[in-house]
Amino acid sequence: MKQTTRRIFMMQVAAGSSVLVASGAMAQAAAAKLDEKDPQAVALGYAADSTKVDAKKYTKHKAEQKCSTCQLYTGKGKDPMGPCSLFPGKQVAAAGWCSAWVKKAA
Ligand code: SF4
Repeated sequence: MKQTTRRIFMMQVAAGSSVLVASGAMAQAAAAKLDEKDPQAVALGYAADSTKVDAKKYTKHKAEQKCSTCQLYTGKGKDPMGPCSLFPGKQVAAAGWCSAWVKKAA
């Protein structure tokens, strides 16, 4: 009897963990891609492609500056998109850029 109860408990824990993992993945997938026309994105000169930043307007921008190398970007590894603390609930392009770029600490 004890072993059966323990097995049921372990199955419930495993099922509960799966639900948590699945809901976390769904929450991340649901985050919308940041639109370059979003008012805050426009204000900060966000471009989804760092190579297309207006060099005349943003003279301090350099080619190696991308969201993926920014302190505020929390995307993982080689993911093409990821969260940025300046744009809660949105995903920015790893290859993007905005004028708030801050070099990620080494
Ligand atoms: S703050 Fe950094 S991560 Fe966020 S959009 Fe600007 S450059 Fe990209």
